[in-house]
Amino acid sequence: MTGRSQASAGDLLELVRSGRATTRGALQQATGLSRATVGQRLDRLFRAGWLREGAGGPVDSPLGGRPSITLEFDDEHAVVLAADLDTRHARAAVLKLTGEILAEHGGTLVVEDGPDAVLGELGRWFAELLEKAGQRAETVCGIGLAVPGPVDSETGRVVQPPMMPGWDGYDIRGRLARAFTEHTGAGSVPVLVDNDANLMAYGEQRTGYADCSAFVLVKVSTGIGAGVVVDGSIYRGIDGGAGDIGHIRVGAEALCRCGSYGCLAAVASGGAVARRLAEAGVPAASGSDVRDLLAAGHPEAVGLAREAGRQVGDVLATVVTLLNPGVLMIAGDLAGTAFLTGVRELLYQRALPRSTAHLDVVTSRLGERAGLVGAGALVVEYLYAPERVEERLLAMGM
Ligand SMILES: [Zn+2]
Repeated sequence: MTGRSQASAGDLLELVRSGRATTRGALQQATGLSRATVGQRLDRLFRAGWLREGAGGPVDSPLGGRPSITLEFDDEHAVVLAADLDTRHARAAVLKLTGEILAEHGGTLVVEDGPDAVLGELGRWFAELLEKAGQRAETVCGIGLAVPGPVDSETGRVVQPPMMPGWDGYDIRGRLARAFTEHTGAGSVPVLVDNDANLMAYGEQRTGYADCSAFVLVKVSTGIGAGVVVDGSIYRGIDGGAGDIGHIRVGAEALCRCGSYGCLAAVASGGAVARRLAEAGVPAASGSDVRDLLAAGHPEAVGLAREAGRQVGDVLATVVTLLNPGVLMIAGDLAGTAFLTGVRELLYQRALPRSTAHLDVVTSRLGERAGLVGAGALVVEYLYAPERVEERLLAMGM
């Protein structure tokens, strides 16, 4: 045995998926494995159905000799389920492993009804969506869930979530896996849970800004949260608390849902704007009501959204100075022209010119689908990570 650990089947799959090595010869070169060993490992991946021969035909081998067959990740062998919970609304989808949405549903689902009811209902949605997409439940490889609260990614549980009463410490993974099994009759699958802003950031960064190594997304809906993607991975902090900027004190006296006074979310979120509108006699109860009013050009809503943007922009000046991102994306119910104008006003006024010189302030590309796309991608990256591939192949008897 040499001291250097040898490339596994999972490492080979990673090389093929990323496009870094897509022929047997290139895999030999990249890993230093013998032709026979590469062949054995690829054989396991072919038998699992995860690899296929490329449609492009043979290409010249880097080692010379006969042209070689190209290999590619078989993205048809499984599908992913994803759901994105907001406080009063949810979306769910069946996705291909490439992230393409095959079937999608959005509807009312009230987080305050508690995890048992909400996750049970999601199981029912998933069963219907699979039927709509013409996919068997047995092809589902995993489920990704976005929630509007801080998540401990080790356990998949939410930790003291201000907007999710009754969910603190609840076994979300276990309940959703059971709901899937109950409604589809299929076996249990892995469930991954993460914060919604994190997953929106992940989805947007991967699909639209793959070259951006420091990406920040701020979601301003009923609450306010931020997702940070650094070098292609979600940055969660030590226990999932990174990006929870809605509860930074900005000194105002409004009471926040978290129980403190003066949080950013208590004065500048969709919920806060809705409350001010209601006080002024304009019917609005949530971030999505504000979104509708903004879309209709309601002058009072536009004025309040701009002011909210200024308050968020002030906090973002600090965020941008600390992280020096290349892209700052504003997403969620309030993410329109008025809010963005307010953000820009304060951000460029307060941040160091140096930290905004190469910064793009943009709005969402994926819109309401960002969380779903991010949740799906999280599952795929988890399941096909080299160490997991080895585990799963062994579990399949390969
Ligand atoms: Zn708060």
